[in-house]
Amino acid sequence: MKRTTRTLVLVGLALGVLAGVAFARPGGGDSFSGGGGHGSGGGGGATVIFELIYWLIRLLIYVPQVGLPLLAILIGWLIWSAYKQHRNKDWDSGPPVALKRAVSANDLKRLDPEFSQVLFEDFAFRLFSTAQRARGSADTLATVAPYVSDLARQHLLQRTPGLPVQSAIVGAMRVYRVEVPQTPVDANGIAMRVRIGVEYEANVTTAEHTYYTVETWLFGRDATRLSKAPGASKEFPCPNCGAPWQSSETGTQKCASCREVVDNGRFDWIVEQISLASSDERPPTVTKEVPERGTDLATYRAADVDARWMELETDDPAITEQNLMARLNLIYKELNKGWSNNDLRAVRGLVSDGLFDYLQYWVDTYKKQGLRNQLTDMGITHTIVAKVTRDKWYDAVTIRLWATGKDFVVKGETGQLMRGSKTKPRPYTEYWTLIRSRSKKGAPIATATCPNCGAPLKITMAGACEHCQAHITAGEFDWVLSKIEQDDTYRG
Ligand SMILES: [Zn+2]
Ligand SMILES: [Zn+2]
Repeated sequence: MKRTTRTLVLVGLALGVLAGVAFARPGGGDSFSGGGGHGSGGGGGATVIFELIYWLIRLLIYVPQVGLPLLAILIGWLIWSAYKQHRNKDWDSGPPVALKRAVSANDLKRLDPEFSQVLFEDFAFRLFSTAQRARGSADTLATVAPYVSDLARQHLLQRTPGLPVQSAIVGAMRVYRVEVPQTPVDANGIAMRVRIGVEYEANVTTAEHTYYTVETWLFGRDATRLSKAPGASKEFPCPNCGAPWQSSETGTQKCASCREVVDNGRFDWIVEQISLASSDERPPTVTKEVPERGTDLATYRAADVDARWMELETDDPAITEQNLMARLNLIYKELNKGWSNNDLRAVRGLVSDGLFDYLQYWVDTYKKQGLRNQLTDMGITHTIVAKVTRDKWYDAVTIRLWATGKDFVVKGETGQLMRGSKTKPRPYTEYWTLIRSRSKKGAPIATATCPNCGAPLKITMAGACEHCQAHITAGEFDWVLSKIEQDDTYRG
């Protein structure tokens, strides 16, 4: 085996096809789509290739009249696949559908000055996972009925009838469509509708299979409504009175507390319809090599980024680009350390709840396969502020970071290399978004301490400081990381 491996490397070098190896990293998501379509047992496939190349080399030496044409065919095939891969920039094996472009939902602020995209995305993120996990039966789905219309619930029920979903992890989501009428009511005084379309890429796991899905959810709400203030509750209460959701009679969506019919978008966002663009059975993979893409792309800098940043500095003179980057560095360092050890407890207080769930899903995936994604000598070399968004509740700063380090996957017990290189650093760039509550001011803290009480950072799974009990992971007291986006898919 050793000899064939060496031969493969030599052949690879000769053909110039030992393209860079690639990696997941925290939030890398490169392998989120599971590298589908290649059948089962990637390891078996690799062995077959080793074998084939071994025989090709032998043919070239002993029967060149057969070996040479075969080599020509192989080279042709490699060029063709490289070309195909190059064309499909977003994903290596790619989702089977073209992904949509993200758009800003800022236009909504014209009718709803309280609207916050940070809050909306958090809501859309939680609702997706809650509704998916409830789709096993009509009864469980009824718990989210005020936020998921009958039509959308019927759709979810039919996905895997009778099979409960164990986990639903959003790998990426983007607002791709925003409809805002000119006026909140029409000529007859009837409320118009605002709508937001969200595209999700997700891994949904039932007792039997894991599906990689691309789906769009269309959210609608009366245009006369204003967005609600962020609540501590992560549940889905009655959108009118806030009582825990309970319908007054089975089969109706009338609240047992306030007696209002609530599944109509009169009080809050409701999913009007869901469409499934694709669903493939693909287990998550973490050992697949995916080349780094997008590193050389120009930075998407929002047109108003400098003006918004100045505004932020004026509102809170304690903030400087330098001290915000110091906090970014702290989060980067802690996240890479925790990720490498398959133990994210130390970063719980530095990332948002939604991002934490996502990161935990991947760490669990590595653990289940007896693997670790080791990140060594990682460092940020350069940063640029790409976007600043400010709304009534949140400030959000998106920073493009350039970083490099040794990034590889090993077997937990033996340390055997499964992917990547232990010696060759790999440069990459990503867009990281930090959020902080609008009500909070002060210099960002660059130490792993509770931003409320100053105790060493120990955070419960619910996102509260173990010392002072304050909830901090929604950026109530200091900036937390809420998104990691790849340079090849980020579109501002
Ligand atoms: Zn109610
Ligand atoms: Zn505290």
